[in-house]
Amino acid sequence: MYIFKGKKDLKSHLSSLSDSKKIVGFVPTMGALHQGHLALVSESLQKTDFTVVSIFVNPTQFDKKEDLEKYPNTISKDIEMLQSRGCHAVYIPSTEDIYDEHVHSESFNFDGLDQEMEGKFRAGHFDGVGTVVKKLFEIVQPNFAFFGEKDFQQLQIIKKLTVIENINTVIVGCPIFREKDGLAMSSRNMRLTEKQRKNAAFIYKTLQKVKANYESLSLEELKTFVKNSFEKSDLFELEYFTIADEQTLKPISSKSEAKNPRAFIAVFADTIRLIDNISLQD
Ligand code: AMP
Repeated sequence: MYIFKGKKDLKSHLSSLSDSKKIVGFVPTMGALHQGHLALVSESLQKTDFTVVSIFVNPTQFDKKEDLEKYPNTISKDIEMLQSRGCHAVYIPSTEDIYDEHVHSESFNFDGLDQEMEGKFRAGHFDGVGTVVKKLFEIVQPNFAFFGEKDFQQLQIIKKLTVIENINTVIVGCPIFREKDGLAMSSRNMRLTEKQRKNAAFIYKTLQKVKANYESLSLEELKTFVKNSFEKSDLFELEYFTIADEQTLKPISSKSEAKNPRAFIAVFADTIRLIDNISLQD
């Protein structure tokens, strides 16, 4: 596996590939890799000829300095995992390699997609994500890029980014990879205490109950059910729960209105923020 620390070397390697018409797949990550990331890598390996993974903890998408500083770093293990999965290249840039001296975000018009859910609680987050993904796409120029449904709002925003920026990359959404007990895999899970981790499947179990009761309960009753469930928990605090349309990401006000309803949740375990979602279609 090639390891690139600078965009110049990566670009020159990739340009020799495009001469030979190889299809390039790209998986952007922030490292601390787990099986969820590797599922995206496998998808790329299946669909493309040459898979590039980036590992870059992007400063402009963090609204809280503490979250950025505490973001886990397991770089040697990450490299081993990618190598054993058969990944072709990993790009591990410095902040300077991506941003030069200008570490700030571009402002995008994502047609309101960034105003919902995460956007309400993480100021500037999606401008930061859009900025770094646009820069990474300019460097890698992938034919396909793979994003997890774990960050469903991000996935929809990246699809929008390719439209508004005329980017010629096909965005492939991949299902959420879960721990055995149902907890959505996340780099942040390793920061949970033993007790929090043991109980964290509660988040997904609550979503599953919402799905099971979607036909029989009203939207208000479903929201109250989730609110009450979290009020009873002394480990997890609900930040938001919403049922929204998958395309617009706007909360639905009636079930008949939503073609593709999906439930979204954000929860705090102390200072650790966890998100999850579930499709409410059959
Ligand atoms: P991150 O390193 O958290 O920025 O994630 C990099 C990519 O991996 C994003 O497209 C995420 O949506 C995706 N991802 C993270 N966790 C999971 C998971 N449990 N299942 C599927 N994809 C995931």
